[in-house]
Amino acid sequence: MNAYNHSGVRGKLLDMNIDKSLVDPFGRKIEYVRLSVTDKCDLRCFYCLPKAFKNFKEPEHWLTYDEIIRVIAAFSDLGVNRVRITGGEPLVRKNLPELVSRLHRIPGVNDLSLSTNAVQLSKHAESLKQAGLSRLNVSLDSLDPKRFKSITGGKLEKVLAGLQAAKMAGFKPIKINMVMMNGINEDEVNNMVQFCIDHDFTLRFIETMPIGDTGRSATDHYISLDVIKSRLEEKFDMMSGVMPGGGPAKYMQVAGTDLRIGFITPISQHFCESCNRVRLSVDGILYLCLGQNDKVELRPLLRKGIGDDELRDVILHAISLKPERHFFNDKPGQVVRFMSMTGG
Ligand code: SAM
Repeated sequence: MNAYNHSGVRGKLLDMNIDKSLVDPFGRKIEYVRLSVTDKCDLRCFYCLPKAFKNFKEPEHWLTYDEIIRVIAAFSDLGVNRVRITGGEPLVRKNLPELVSRLHRIPGVNDLSLSTNAVQLSKHAESLKQAGLSRLNVSLDSLDPKRFKSITGGKLEKVLAGLQAAKMAGFKPIKINMVMMNGINEDEVNNMVQFCIDHDFTLRFIETMPIGDTGRSATDHYISLDVIKSRLEEKFDMMSGVMPGGGPAKYMQVAGTDLRIGFITPISQHFCESCNRVRLSVDGILYLCLGQNDKVELRPLLRKGIGDDELRDVILHAISLKPERHFFNDKPGQVVRFMSMTGG
């Protein structure tokens, strides 16, 4: 069966009274796939990828767009309705709008979003919107050009141009993701809040995670988001807020403005009990938890010609292996792969 004529499969499975929902052993319903389309990146954020890192997967190991569509269609048959494209930097993969358009046409995928560093977004924002992308998350750790360069190795002006193009193309909400680091950028919180109020962006703060040696080196700069929240409460009138489809972030709103601020706290307050996602790497490995090594390799099966029924069964089995939680605090050395390999 090809990816475009599978729409009745889930209905048929339900008619046959076969429960093919993706529910893991801890009762969590899996509805969300993070899809990495490349492990390459055009930035080198020091907490993510080593400066001289070149050991990327060979493109023949990358899933092709046809293979990606088959896997996501199988997930959609099993009840997944949200897909986020990530990487590496997804905009370095050729013809990304083509993939977006094909994902958008998979019945059941009704929330299709992209995580990007926005370096190349000014070229692509309009075509991504036309292709059916619903939402954008943009990583931005500093509004100071020199500091931005020292954190990422890149140029802030390109990111700002990308954000402007995304606004012009009509993306809303645009979420800004800021990894909060003590002694690096925690003094920019108020500036970032004001920037997001001015541009009508949503803001999310993220705690550093010990993923790969780079991530572990950044834990020297770890700061609990409770500290940031208290500082914000001193400066702004904060009320509890809600963000539809907000995922693990807990939201607050700045009174008198539309600004919602999300706090993603994998370290100070993990949210594993509500985890609803799995991750597909560019080389076709299904990772069941960002902070664990449990995985199922789909690429060899796809290349051996696995059928659609069997593919769905492999996915169902994979979900039965999803671990209960990560151990970022107890075993910070556990995940050796870099964030860009799993897809952040
Ligand atoms: N290139 C895209 C981007 O910049 O958003 C997508 C991939 S990037 C790996 C996804 C997110 O992971 C970014 O917001 C990045 O800041 C975050 N990230 C990477 N390493 C991290 C770490 N060790 N701790 C916390 N966040 C991390």
